Amino acid sequence: MQFRNFKMVGYVVYGRGSFNQLDEILAPQRKPNAPMVFLVDHFFEGKALPNRIPLRGNDVIIFADVTYEPKTKQVDALALQLKEQFGEVSGIIGIGGGSTMDLAKAVALMMNNPGSSADYQGWDLVKYAGVYKAGIPTLSGTGAEVSRTTVLTGPTRKLGMNSDFTPFDQIVLDPELCKDAPANQRFYTGMDCYIHCIESLEGTFLNEFSKSYGEKALQLCREVFLGNSPWSDIKDDKLMMASYAGGMSIAYSQVGVAHAVSYGLSYLLGTKHGIGNCIVMNHLEEYYPQGVREFKQMVQENNIDIPQGICSGLTEEQFDTMMNVSLGMKPLWENALGKDWEQIMTREKLRALYEKL
Ligand code: NAD
Ligand code: ZN
Repeated sequence: MQFRNFKMVGYVVYGRGSFNQLDEILAPQRKPNAPMVFLVDHFFEGKALPNRIPLRGNDVIIFADVTYEPKTKQVDALALQLKEQFGEVSGIIGIGGGSTMDLAKAVALMMNNPGSSADYQGWDLVKYAGVYKAGIPTLSGTGAEVSRTTVLTGPTRKLGMNSDFTPFDQIVLDPELCKDAPANQRFYTGMDCYIHCIESLEGTFLNEFSKSYGEKALQLCREVFLGNSPWSDIKDDKLMMASYAGGMSIAYSQVGVAHAVSYGLSYLLGTKHGIGNCIVMNHLEEYYPQGVREFKQMVQENNIDIPQGICSGLTEEQFDTMMNVSLGMKPLWENALGKDWEQIMTREKLRALYEKL
């Protein structure tokens, strides 16, 4: 038995207003004439947050267009631009949702690794440590702030750069930054965390490490999304910790059916991660009966619309593409259904599931 020896985030600061400590946190990381690059979710362009970023010397703010989830091309272009403009940078600071944080991680790695980020999609392919990187979430749920991956869509696949070099050196968890997130987006991203918990806790890879974090994250998700009370600061505080704990839970287990199926949707249709997981979870009674019942209650209490019928009118070839992507996520299926998963999740069965979505 080989136990996973995994690398974690270096430093963590948590609390409302902790963003104000960013200047002192970054000071020891600064190198002469090499800027800090703040990669900021484009939602914040023209808002108050960029004015609070502690710019020094030749530091720059780059607004990241996250209309679509990060692509290897986008990562390569950003890394090239920074190398041409500055030669060396002191660090990359990602401020935003999972998409912006993933972009920041990937660009930081590509500052020191040759070729294209597409060459490193997979497990433990990254050769050299990247430059210093920090993650500052403005949406809670993905767990991207703690994970050892950065999910990218490349020319041939949607797969992360999973490596010991991928986790952030520093994360700043300031729930105040989430206050303007729209209710729908907050829900979809929050459900990513809820679904991580269900998939981890109901999976065959479960152990006490994953369970400890998963149960805590699940409890926090329930406190946030059940009970019909209006949104509040304390909910943002809790959801940020749920995201962190949910991410720690899957770090030592794996996700499951909702993610495996949702990856197919996202590859073919560009469906975003949070909403895609919700679309799939809505139809997974057979695999996660209790979790799906509670999920539906959360949807109802929070007055959220989950799109239906998104696979109607797709061609045979398109269904095949989605199924190939999905069935390629072997560890996810094995976690969900056990070693004999291929006997359980046949192509016919998966096809029937996609048709329901
Ligand atoms: P996102 O980062 O894609 O952002 C969704 C939308 O919310 C965007 O329009 C963004 O501009 C906006 N937004 C962000 N913060 C906001 C705020 N405070 N107020 C208002 N609007 C705000 O959403 P997400 O769900 O956080 O991230 C999804 C991404 O995370 C996907 O690309 C997925 O692949 C990735 N992901 C990564 C991991 C990992 O371990 N690395 C895990 C799960 C998901
Ligand atoms: Zn997820």
